[in-house]
Amino acid sequence: MEDLEKEIGRLKVRLQDKNVKAVIIPHISPDGDAAGSCSALSQVFEQVGIDWHILTCDYVPEYLKFLKNISSAISFQEKPELCKELISAADLIFMLDHNTVMREGKLEGIVANARAERVMIDHHPNPELQQFMISNAKVSSTCELLYTVITKIFGKEVITSDIANSLYCGINTDTGGLSHNSSRPEIYRIIADLLEFGLDKDLIHRQIYQVNNLSRLRLMGNTLLNKLQVDTRYPVAIMPITNEELEKYDYKDGDLEGLVNIPLSVHNVAVSIQITERKGRVKLSFRSKGKIPVNEWARIWFNGGGHFNAAGGQMERPLEEVIKKVLETMPLFFEQFSK
Ligand code: 5GP
Ligand code: MN
Repeated sequence: MEDLEKEIGRLKVRLQDKNVKAVIIPHISPDGDAAGSCSALSQVFEQVGIDWHILTCDYVPEYLKFLKNISSAISFQEKPELCKELISAADLIFMLDHNTVMREGKLEGIVANARAERVMIDHHPNPELQQFMISNAKVSSTCELLYTVITKIFGKEVITSDIANSLYCGINTDTGGLSHNSSRPEIYRIIADLLEFGLDKDLIHRQIYQVNNLSRLRLMGNTLLNKLQVDTRYPVAIMPITNEELEKYDYKDGDLEGLVNIPLSVHNVAVSIQITERKGRVKLSFRSKGKIPVNEWARIWFNGGGHFNAAGGQMERPLEEVIKKVLETMPLFFEQFSK
């Protein structure tokens, strides 16, 4: 904690120079915490007169576009040259909600070689060392941590209702609607503050949870009805989803959000794995309940990582092969990590 205060103090000094050019980068496939934190930080910079751009290696999903400034994010897939120019002109690169440059997709090499100093603000374990390290794996979300960073550097008076909305979006989504990873009283003190600054809690709930379209419901329904399998040896549910199914149900980014959590509601399922085929690669999402560190499963065998109970990985192999690997590594994982 002392280190954190020191790092925030160093950043405060650095940001006294209002001529700094900042770029703000969320992780690949931004979620509510990544997009919420980018939105909040950009609004603060706007207020205090710091030049900022939000850059993404891919796209922000539609359901998060209500967050202020998020629609102005520049995608590397659409404007690679502009992204390169902005990164090379930047003095500070803010890495939000990720613990390694590797989570920046195709921006990775460009960011890694830039002259700018990198500022990590994140809550994932095992962070990669950067020039500024504001990292705390105990907090619920990057947005929770960012609230502390913003208020310590700029004071509480900069928090507007739009900033409060963005920060709450990350706190709410990363805790599954305050259902997990949310037992520290501090979170509720921050939420109470945000309400005083004009947070519209009900609006966030509507924007995040009441945005189903029929194709998303049908894709989820099809997966739960026809694709979900529960292993006979271990308490593991697996849901493979093919490219063909995504096309059939008119998949859009974000449509599968939350699906992987559903099998965990079955009492004898302790791990849920969604295995999704996507344009030449396969993405895995792991969730667990209790003392099962799925980030280790993702890290050791699937080029990934993440949190103890929520992790992800990927492989550039055919779907069938990835499923086979999940089944093969299951006994190895449980032998080594489940106590
Ligand atoms: P999701 O399943 O929602 O994509 O990811 C859940 C969590 O796993 C994310 O918050 C992130 O911490 C982590 N994660 C997902 N994919 C990867 C990956 O490819 N590499 C690493 N290191 N972490 C990942
Ligand atoms: Mn997060």
